[in-house]
Amino acid sequence: MTNFSEHEFRKQPWFDQNNFPGFDQAIPMKSIVIYCFDPRAANIPNAIAAYFGDEVYPGENILDEAGNNVGSTQTLFTLSNAGGRAIGALQSVATMNHLFNNLERLIVVHHSFCGATSFEPNQLIEKFHDHYHADISNMWNHDDLAILDYDKSIRHDVELLRSSPATPKKMKIYGFFYDINSGKLTELLSDIPVAA
Ligand SMILES: [Zn+2]
Repeated sequence: MTNFSEHEFRKQPWFDQNNFPGFDQAIPMKSIVIYCFDPRAANIPNAIAAYFGDEVYPGENILDEAGNNVGSTQTLFTLSNAGGRAIGALQSVATMNHLFNNLERLIVVHHSFCGATSFEPNQLIEKFHDHYHADISNMWNHDDLAILDYDKSIRHDVELLRSSPATPKKMKIYGFFYDINSGKLTELLSDIPVAA
């Protein structure tokens, strides 16, 4: 049996998980971009970094004198799933806000000719019923399953992130549309909290 536990932070003598300051010193994570894993949309993080102008993407790994990977210069982090939907991002948003203290932006991007515009929620549910003999009808809000209208899906996802307890109230949330043919990004809305 192989035991990998020597590679855990909590097993390192210098690491104290009860006095954990965050990984901000190692990686200056500032923003998370949520987008579709369609390979035709793979350039979205680069486009978002260019749009904001103050992001590092892709970054470079930082090595210590022994050659260990101990950090990165990257500030923009990528989170991709089917459709680039907020519902699939919440666990990562919560986890990253535990590990890092300086997250500022959550950015949702839906793209043109996304596969999620090719069906309606009931068709997905019926296929599972008929082909896989499984009931997924109550697993998600049906508005999270398909893109029926880009304006509505992008607003829905920005509102979902804002209303989720997984999103700290200080975070700025942005919704974009991306044209996969021209590479053009269009900012549809932003939800910027008033500074306390
Ligand atoms: Zn897509």
